[in-house]
Amino acid sequence: MHKETDMAYTGSCHCGAVRYKAEGKPVVVAHCNCTDCQRLSGAGHSTGAMFGVDKFEVVGNVKEYRLNSDHGNEVIKSFCPECGSSLFGRNNGMKGFITISLGTMDDSANLVPEVSVFDRNRKPWDVMGESIMVFDTQPDWKPEGGSK
Ligand SMILES: [Zn+2]
Ligand SMILES: [Zn+2]
Repeated sequence: MHKETDMAYTGSCHCGAVRYKAEGKPVVVAHCNCTDCQRLSGAGHSTGAMFGVDKFEVVGNVKEYRLNSDHGNEVIKSFCPECGSSLFGRNNGMKGFITISLGTMDDSANLVPEVSVFDRNRKPWDVMGESIMVFDTQPDWKPEGGSK
């Protein structure tokens, strides 16, 4: 068995120009059904794993896209400028953390999404598992250990 500190999640965009690595275990793994995630992912929802930025490193250049979320937070989404893969995002309401798109990880088989947020925006054809905690918008929750 690995120690928690030995664990790392690696991933890349589709064309391979951008690679990243996140160490340790994610703080949370969540589906997000907000309209921003729907447009940006082109799917019913995004699925992301949140890590401390100090646990995260990226190789290659990304293109950043800034938007203002419904909660008035500034969100910065990072894409591969070559292939357009949506790789990770930061939110100034969750300073010190980065959320990685689960589909870009090399191996995410042992990660289990615990929550689904912005259920009010969920598409009727996008059905969630029964074991998942569902929130109409976003729970009033902050990860521990974030930098100010
Ligand atoms: Zn790429
Ligand atoms: Zn979202």
